[in-house]
Amino acid sequence: MPNPRQAVGLPCLVMKFGGTSVGSAERIQAAARLTAEQHAKRPVAIVVSAMAKVTDLLLDTTRKAEAGDEAGVDANLVQLIARHETCCRELLPEGAPRDAALSGTRALIQEFARVVKGMLMLGERPVQSVDRAIAIGERLSALMMAACLESQGIRAAAVNAAAVIATDAVFGNATPLMEETRERAAAVIGPLLAERVLPVMTGFNGSTLEGVPTTLGRGGSDFSASILAAALDAAELWIWTDVDGIMTADPRVVPEARVLDAITYSEAAELAYAGAKVLHPRTLAPLAEHKIPVWSKNSFAPDKPGTRIVPAVEAATGPRAVTSMMDVAMVSIEPAGPAISSAKLMAEAMHALDAAGVELLAITSSSYRQNFCFIVKQSELAGALKQLEEEFAIELAHGYVKPPEVDANVGLLTVVGEGMRGTPGLAGRIFTAISRQNINIIAIAQGSSELTIAIVVRRDGLEQAVRAVHEECGLGRRT
Ligand code: ASP
Ligand code: MG
Repeated sequence: MPNPRQAVGLPCLVMKFGGTSVGSAERIQAAARLTAEQHAKRPVAIVVSAMAKVTDLLLDTTRKAEAGDEAGVDANLVQLIARHETCCRELLPEGAPRDAALSGTRALIQEFARVVKGMLMLGERPVQSVDRAIAIGERLSALMMAACLESQGIRAAAVNAAAVIATDAVFGNATPLMEETRERAAAVIGPLLAERVLPVMTGFNGSTLEGVPTTLGRGGSDFSASILAAALDAAELWIWTDVDGIMTADPRVVPEARVLDAITYSEAAELAYAGAKVLHPRTLAPLAEHKIPVWSKNSFAPDKPGTRIVPAVEAATGPRAVTSMMDVAMVSIEPAGPAISSAKLMAEAMHALDAAGVELLAITSSSYRQNFCFIVKQSELAGALKQLEEEFAIELAHGYVKPPEVDANVGLLTVVGEGMRGTPGLAGRIFTAISRQNINIIAIAQGSSELTIAIVVRRDGLEQAVRAVHEECGLGRRT
């Protein structure tokens, strides 16, 4: 296998453009300019998301197909065609390249339509077909981006990541197989880089070892980019979004929030997990081995420095950021008597959550009554409860366990920072800051890594609590 790094002679830069950064012809042109600038200096490979909202539209179409709503399916297809055809026309002058892009997009949308028509006939949406269908959004934007680069005199090739990223067969939320991916990347991307053809790879998708299409989960294009960066031993990964970088808090909640200069992989991963929308939570894992630095940058304001995400920072000082999640629910489980141990109940509950594919945002347990509670996203609540009921069927029938109690009127606040480790008094200060606002703390979870403190409060007190903690931790603008 050729080693792409040797073939190129220079370590490459991988850049990823998110949905808003390729959301219109104008944005694709801006992304192409940013790409060209770097391409002039060193080998570059880019990864693109679907145009903003397109994945939602594709998914909605598959749901309409499942429900037998043919008119709805057709209306969505019309929208999809219009959006991409308009984009091609605005992107490229009249002529052969534009015609090629138009027929390319039409062919892809036809491929999508075929899969969806199958769902319509069956009245079902098998997970495999969904994955085959929804990666079309990325394939469309890769095609348009490559055409745009070519029109500016840069040799570029759209690459379907199904030929590059090897994954397991967990459809809808696949995990990369790195060794196979390295081989595929060397075979597919390596020669392009060696020829100075700029690869424009689709984000979000991959395929199993047998070549069956998969996707990496919503928002997975960041993950695709980090997988590619790792597979190519890239020098750096730049993730272009529509915000200035990773912030100390959501600026809509905390006006004083500011962009962080640098944070660690672990901090960024925790922030993503706790609801900061800048990065897909799994993005940083593939980079750890080669310690590839990442930049989170704003394609709408490319001159701003952005946030550097690095394996470690020299002096980690205190908390770094505070996030909030509104759309969560707290589920409490309690044995009905001493006949069943809480360890057993917990094991069963965790098993149920795993089977339902639910993300566990926080968990705490305490007290003589041996109850425990955990926080899940509201969107995953129904699935979680259904699976819990199945898992606890016998215990419930025999009255060993009380029916799970749900409190949907809660919010989750998470403070993140490596520097919190071993800082005595910090948790106390954070709790006091919240209490001073007359906000009651419902539950607390802190892992032994001391990287995060998660606090559950009433939903209507959440934003105020976030502001109080941000202020108490001195995270605001430094003037
Ligand atoms: N287009 C996909 C999504 O919307 C992947 C991504 O944009 O990261 O989830
Ligand atoms: Mg995204």
